Amino acid sequence: MRILLVEDESAIADTVLYALRAEGFETTHCLTGGEALREAQRVAYDLAVLDIGLPDIGGFALCRELRRDRDLPVIFLTAQNAEADRILGLEIGADDYVTKPFSPRELATRVRVVLRRKGGANIPAESEAGFVHDGEGKRIRYRGQALDLTRYEYGLLAALLQRPGAVLSRAQLMDRVWGDALDSGDRTVDTHIKTLRAKLREIGPDSDPIRTHRGLGYSLELG
Ligand code: CA
Repeated sequence: MRILLVEDESAIADTVLYALRAEGFETTHCLTGGEALREAQRVAYDLAVLDIGLPDIGGFALCRELRRDRDLPVIFLTAQNAEADRILGLEIGADDYVTKPFSPRELATRVRVVLRRKGGANIPAESEAGFVHDGEGKRIRYRGQALDLTRYEYGLLAALLQRPGAVLSRAQLMDRVWGDALDSGDRTVDTHIKTLRAKLREIGPDSDPIRTHRGLGYSLELG
């Protein structure tokens, strides 16, 4: 696992580097956003730890640049009492943040949690699919917006997202999402797929990523 650390204060960077490397993460440190962008061109990092206050481009702008081509998990380092930074960070899709001063071990733990969460389900890059699945929080974002899903809609979409392109039969979906619930019939899946589609269409009227395979079931087509 390769981590990109962007922090202009060497003292902070040193302790973070030490903690991440001690956890077995191959970590590269950059002092500026410009340096980080060049570095990210060269190596496909698995996660970035970004300071918000950088001397050239700010951490938020850097995050957007780094994510232009692919879905890179990001943890922000925010200043103490900078509530606005934390809110903005989460709004632009940060996976987590830690507030300075922080313990390097705490950061290493957050890194591990985010990587596990991201690696758990095989979700393709956001730029292709538009979906970001937070399995732990049971939330799915689509094209940068949080989807307001019912429990069943969430279950269906999560199941489809786990195997993009694969056709899942109604019985498989029923089994995955409803389990042993008794109030389920053949039309149940269809009904919830319909409302799920409507919610996706609200955000992306130009595409319909859920495909119906007559007599077979449904698949999620990405890209
Ligand atoms: Ca700084």
